[in-house]
Amino acid sequence: MIPYGRQDISDADIQAVVDVLRSDFLTQGPAVPAFEKAIATYCGAEHAVALNSATSALHVACLALGAGAGDVVWTSPITFVASANCALYCGAQVDFVDIDPHSYNMSVERLSEKLAQAEQSGCLPKIIIPVHLCGQSCDMAGIHALSQRYGFKIIEDASHAVGGKYRGEPIGSGRYSDISVFSFHPVKIITAGEGGMALTNDAQLAERMKLLRSHGITSDVADMLPRATGELWFYQQTALGFNYRMTDIHAALGLSQMQRLDDFVARRHAIAKRYEELLAELPVITHRQHADSYSGYHLYVIRLKQGEIGKTQREVFNAMRAAGIGVNLHYIPVYRQPYYEQMGFKAGYCPEAERYYTEAISLPIYATLMEAQQDRVAVALREAVSA
Ligand SMILES: *Cc1c(COP(=O)(O)O)cnc(C)c1O
Repeated sequence: MIPYGRQDISDADIQAVVDVLRSDFLTQGPAVPAFEKAIATYCGAEHAVALNSATSALHVACLALGAGAGDVVWTSPITFVASANCALYCGAQVDFVDIDPHSYNMSVERLSEKLAQAEQSGCLPKIIIPVHLCGQSCDMAGIHALSQRYGFKIIEDASHAVGGKYRGEPIGSGRYSDISVFSFHPVKIITAGEGGMALTNDAQLAERMKLLRSHGITSDVADMLPRATGELWFYQQTALGFNYRMTDIHAALGLSQMQRLDDFVARRHAIAKRYEELLAELPVITHRQHADSYSGYHLYVIRLKQGEIGKTQREVFNAMRAAGIGVNLHYIPVYRQPYYEQMGFKAGYCPEAERYYTEAISLPIYATLMEAQQDRVAVALREAVSA
C-alpha cells in the first residue's frame, strides 16, 4: 500500500537521536531550546515554545490567550478535531465558520457575516483559529483586519504548513496572528516522532505557555511570589499547568529534520506539479493555489466532479484502496463527529464544508514518493473514476 503520507528519516537524523541517548539529558537538556531557536529563526518569530504535540500547543495557546468558561472560540469545520477540542479543554465553547469553496480554508466572507451577527447578539468570539489546510495559508490579512475591528485573538493552526509562506514571509512569523502552532507528527512535513511548537512575538504569551507546559511551576526567582524570609523555595507552582514537555530525544530528531525542511517542501511542490499534469484529463478538481501562498503541501487533496463520474466517492475510495493506494479523507467536518453532534450541531450547518466532504480524496504525497509510484496512483485513479 502506498500511504498518503510518511516520514523520511536519514542516517543523520538517527545519529542525532543516538547522540542524545548517549548524553546526560534525555529531557530538559539543550536539544529542546536548540530546536526552539532554529524554528523561531527560520520563521522570523521572536519566541518558540516546544511541546509534546500540536494538540498540547493549541491547548496552552488558548489558555495563554485567556480562553475559559463563557468564552467562544471559532475554527474551521474542515480540520483535525484538535483544532476545536483545544477550546473545549479550557471550558470554552466552539463554533465553526464555513469554508471557501476554492481554498477549502475558513471563508473570510462567511467569517465577516458571522461576526456581524455575533456582534448584534453580543456573543463575539474571544479567539479564532484559522487552519492552513494542506499547507496553504488562509487569507490572514483579511482575518487580521477583522480582528482589529472585532477584537478577537488569532491562533494559526499551521500544523500542515511548516516550510510554507504567505505573502513572501514564512508561515509562523506572527505578522497576522498572536500565536502559530506547528505539528511534528510523522505524517506532517518534518517530524519529531511526536511534537508541536507554539510561536509568538509576545514575550508574555511565550512565558505563560512555558509555565503551562511544565505543571505551572517556575524556578525563576523573579517569577516567584514573595514569601516570608527564611523559607527555602527552589520552585513555585503559580498556575495549574500540565506535563506537556518535549523530550530532548524528540527535539534532536526535529532539529535534524529541519536541515531538510526546504528540500522536503520543494519535493512536495514537484509532486503536486506532476499530479497536476497526470490528472489534467480526469474529472477531478485540483486544489487551487492563491498567488499569496507558497504551500507546505502537507496534503494533496482532489475533489471528484461528481456530475461527470458514474461512481460514488465511496466507490472511488474503495477502488483506490483495492489498487494499493492508501487514499484518505481530510476531513469529516468536525461538528459531524458524534461527540459534537451531542452538543447540538446538525448536518447542514456549514454547506460548503459538507459538499467538500462528499467530494474530497487525499492522494499520496511525501518526500520519498517515487515517480513510478505516482504514476501508479494516476493510473488507479483513472480506472477508479471511469464507469
Ligand atoms: C495533526 C494536526 C493537529 C494535531 O497535531 P498533533 O501534533 O498530532 O497533536 C492539529 N491540527 C491539525 C490541522 C492537524 O493536522
